[in-house]
Amino acid sequence: MKTYFVSLFRLLFPRLCVGCGKPLVALENTVCLNCLYTLPRTHYETEKDHPVEQLFWGKLPIERAMAWCHFVKGGKLQTLLHALKYHHRPDVGVVLGRQMALECMSWLSDVEVIVPVPLHISRQQHRGYNQAACIASGISQVIGVDVCTHVLARTVATSTQTRMRVFERHQNTQGIFAVQQPEVLAHKQVLLVDDVITTGATLLAAAQALKEEIPTCKISIATLAVASA
Ligand SMILES: [Zn+2]
Repeated sequence: MKTYFVSLFRLLFPRLCVGCGKPLVALENTVCLNCLYTLPRTHYETEKDHPVEQLFWGKLPIERAMAWCHFVKGGKLQTLLHALKYHHRPDVGVVLGRQMALECMSWLSDVEVIVPVPLHISRQQHRGYNQAACIASGISQVIGVDVCTHVLARTVATSTQTRMRVFERHQNTQGIFAVQQPEVLAHKQVLLVDDVITTGATLLAAAQALKEEIPTCKISIATLAVASA
């Protein structure tokens, strides 16, 4: 009987893919398999010295960096990330984080703790969640390590960076993060996670803050997407 009502409910209110708007089938959640498998992969997890790692050259010693997909203007990933950030769909972050982790298992194999890049508290309260933490949660479900959200904090609410030029962005991200209870991450292999990397300035500032306070931690960086600056 319960199944009947579930079927009737689904018939009246089909679950739709956030990427393409088509009805989802039984085992699909949030994003249909077609959308999930046609996102433009970078395959950086199998390469060295790729453009995302180059963003950090000469700036900070990180273990490695990667972005899972290319951010293409008008592409499906843009639709998905827009829903994640502005249309209250935290589940999109979890689904994409999980898929990224499934495909990059060996790249992630030595990670001991996942740290999402924090939002300033005012923005997080406005949005209701931190999209990077949703992605981190998806990764955590696959590789089975904890997400740590209380050590790294964003102390300055930066204005939206979308339209700023590269040089201004670098200036804008200095000293915007703070670290508390550094002992939690001491001697740990830390995976720093964010949704999109462009110039790398925000991730660099976050990694710098961690390294300054916790010199013994080792930092790798993973994002869902890379966009050209
Ligand atoms: Zn779809």
